[in-house]
Amino acid sequence: MSREEFFMSEAIKLSEKGITQNEGGPFGCVIVKGDVIVGRGNNKVTASNDPTAHAEVVAIRDACQNLQTYQLADCEIYTSCEPCPMCLAAIYWTRIKKIYFANTRYDAAAIGFDDAMIYNEMICDHSARKIPIVAIGRQKALEVFKDWKSKEDRTIY
Ligand SMILES: [Zn+2]
Repeated sequence: MSREEFFMSEAIKLSEKGITQNEGGPFGCVIVKGDVIVGRGNNKVTASNDPTAHAEVVAIRDACQNLQTYQLADCEIYTSCEPCPMCLAAIYWTRIKKIYFANTRYDAAAIGFDDAMIYNEMICDHSARKIPIVAIGRQKALEVFKDWKSKEDRTIY
């Protein structure tokens, strides 16, 4: 078994654990730095009443707590299913260097987890979106952006 296959098998084990313990959907994830697992997660949406508690997000939070950092640039992520748009975006925010996935998003759609609608929404004009999106209050909000830009002790990320 290659190191990549080993880490993926750990992610898949977590997906299995999650459904056995009724924590959420069949998704598991590990984050690896060098040859060490630094974060683990399985889907906990239903158990934690948290629609963002996807395996990847849970694993990212675990890795960042364990490493006391907000970026994971030296890490790889192994997820038992191709990331949904939310998790893909979260992975980009972490600066993770490589993504491995097992099941495809089409496999997920076949068991009732269909991300295609969200992928489509992201490339739609605002006016065509299923959830109305309205711009309001920009003048006041922009003042805070200016404050941030001139704040000398800000942490840039
Ligand atoms: Zn996700």
